[in-house]
Amino acid sequence: MPWPPLAPWPRAVPGFGWTWYVSGFAAVPVGFPVDRQTWLLLPRSPRLSVQSEPHASLVGAAAAKRQPGATQVQSRLGGPGRSLLPLVSLLLLLSACGPRAAKAPFPVQTLADAGLKPLPAARLAACATALRLPPELARPADPSNFGQRQARDAFGREVPHRPQLIVLHETVLTAADTVRHFATPHPRDDDQASYHLLIDRAGQRLRIVADTGRAYGAGMAAFGDFTVRIRPTSVGALNNVALHLSLETPPDGRGDGDAHSGYTPEQYRLAAGQVLLWQAAWGIPMSRVTTHEAVDRSHSRRDPRSFRWESFDKAWREAAGRCGLAAYDRGRATI
Ligand SMILES: [Zn+2]
Repeated sequence: MPWPPLAPWPRAVPGFGWTWYVSGFAAVPVGFPVDRQTWLLLPRSPRLSVQSEPHASLVGAAAAKRQPGATQVQSRLGGPGRSLLPLVSLLLLLSACGPRAAKAPFPVQTLADAGLKPLPAARLAACATALRLPPELARPADPSNFGQRQARDAFGREVPHRPQLIVLHETVLTAADTVRHFATPHPRDDDQASYHLLIDRAGQRLRIVADTGRAYGAGMAAFGDFTVRIRPTSVGALNNVALHLSLETPPDGRGDGDAHSGYTPEQYRLAAGQVLLWQAAWGIPMSRVTTHEAVDRSHSRRDPRSFRWESFDKAWREAAGRCGLAAYDRGRATI
């Protein structure tokens, strides 16, 4: 709350045939024409003199005489009008001191409409069958490790919150250790993490967070310049619009090396099928399928290491052919 207010006391200003009470932050008209104004001592002026008011009371005239520097103008309201002065003054002061809408220090960013309609559930199910995808195995994360997609930011503005990007990762740990980490409660923000889905080296699809949930896979991240900020103090992130898919790292990739022996053909096949299903479910073009390394802005993430796009693309084209969904790759760098 700013204090003191710009104008410590509301000032009466005539204008447009009304008297306006102007404080630092508000101008409130009081509902009487100026020349019938009441209960306030105003600077002497011919127009506001007692004599100009045909209904001036004797009390008002007497008071005006006692105060030669000012003229008290009496209205038809007389006594009741005077009694409003403290109340109106208090309301004006409260309006001046009350909470003001905070000014947002950053704009809301959005991605352009991709122009791809989400497909109905029956069509998605038929595609999943055609791709021979194994059923999802439930490996739910502890609620501390994911959240809800947030429709509005701290300033009440609507922000992008539907899935619009697909981000690929690798686990580094074994799939079992990764699932265990996600299932463990983590009260500290820095320890909270999750993906939506994990594909292990045995070819299993492990469901960790529902698509509609906000998995914590990419803090401090941006897609090009696009990012989502929720609070004034928060860094930009993409979790509000991302679907996170992770591949289990091979045993020779447990450390921090630059590369490892890569992913199995089945992992590529299942990853391509999952990406295609997500694209069709949410209307996401191939130009918005990316990696954690590409969107990370903390300069600390390099995953998925040793990921071969040509292997993924080959598997994706085959999957898109089976489902008749080649339109989700338009062969363009952007939409
Ligand atoms: Zn990652």
